[in-house]
Amino acid sequence: MTTPTPGRVWAHVGQPFTPGSDPQPAYDVLILGAGRMGSALALALTERAPHLKTLLIEEGGLPNEDGATILAPGVWTLAHLPAAQHDAARWTLNRLRTLLGDDLQARPYLTLHAEPAPGTQPTRDLLAAHPQSLALLDPGAFPHATAHEAHTYRPGTLAQVAAQTAIRRGTDLLLNTRATPHPGGRVTLDRLTVTNTHAIVTHETHTLHAPLVILATGAHAPTQAEHHLGLHTRHARAYRQTPHLGAPSTPDAPVLHAHGLTLRPQHGAYTLIPTIHHRDPHGYTPQGGHLTGVPTGLRRETLEDLVGLMDALPTLATSDLHLGRSLADIPGAWLALPHGHPDATPTHQRLDDHTHLLLGGPHADTLGLWTADALAREIAGGRGQ
Ligand code: ADP
Repeated sequence: MTTPTPGRVWAHVGQPFTPGSDPQPAYDVLILGAGRMGSALALALTERAPHLKTLLIEEGGLPNEDGATILAPGVWTLAHLPAAQHDAARWTLNRLRTLLGDDLQARPYLTLHAEPAPGTQPTRDLLAAHPQSLALLDPGAFPHATAHEAHTYRPGTLAQVAAQTAIRRGTDLLLNTRATPHPGGRVTLDRLTVTNTHAIVTHETHTLHAPLVILATGAHAPTQAEHHLGLHTRHARAYRQTPHLGAPSTPDAPVLHAHGLTLRPQHGAYTLIPTIHHRDPHGYTPQGGHLTGVPTGLRRETLEDLVGLMDALPTLATSDLHLGRSLADIPGAWLALPHGHPDATPTHQRLDDHTHLLLGGPHADTLGLWTADALAREIAGGRGQ
């Protein structure tokens, strides 16, 4: 086997971008967005269709601090998936093991219940080895629990490892570049730079053509399809905040899940992952809720959920829950909602002769790599165009 020539990386506008000359397309595939979905697709294409030349384009860095990837929970679990998805999830887990090695950590995942149900065990027994976790709960509120397998990791690391591996195998990467798709496989590229007054401006613009264009721009992808390609989809987006809970957690602490709220042990404390209730309509900006007249920085729907859980999880009512004054004070990101459903699994969809959509969304931790691979297989089989 010959060793592939590594791809090129253009990180900033000081590096001239010379993708090849028209009319010969320099690339077979343009992937817009190097979050975990775009990066995973770039990697999968190097395996499934190594003859194709791919350019991965990202508006920010790798991973982008504004994307959903960097704030995703990073919890692989079957707890909320129908049985039909389990094989795909197991496939994803094997890939995560290969790509992340020791950065993937096995830990229990407990769903907490007020009432017994088939398969539940006493919460006290399941948490006997984890007194700090037990201390978060009013055990009377959640006497029963179901134990699931889980593995935690950092999705930002996954995006990085996937993209770097793809580059070693020949994929090119263009950072700090905003891509706009147009009909006919045309993509305009705005290479961005920061002025000395901290404004982000376009330094130069390029136009590329490719037989295949993949929108992997996360929550932006459905809007891009609609605005630039005139194609309406049923996909949507939602803004999810992930507040920090300062209660201590040990490195092997379980993930806890109660009434839709996930408490993910991270950095010796917890990250809270609230339920997504519904799509946020286009143009809607979430509103911050108030507690006793004081702004909290949490979007109203999430605040209401957390207030409803304060009796059962008393630590939520203490200063361990890090609040703010405005939405920007609490980490949060726009997530794609495939098919507009908070529970929908990652998906890919052919939009027109040249363009596919690749969406991660709330279950990307468990199924994202499999979905990216499924699209790569479709492209490799010649069904992409
Ligand atoms: P996913 O989980 O689907 O990968 P992310 O939001 O993490 O979702 O990834 C989408 C990526 O696409 C982000 O890194 C974001 O910066 C990037 N992106 C969004 N819009 C554009 C664009 N117009 N051009 C290039 N990159 C974009």
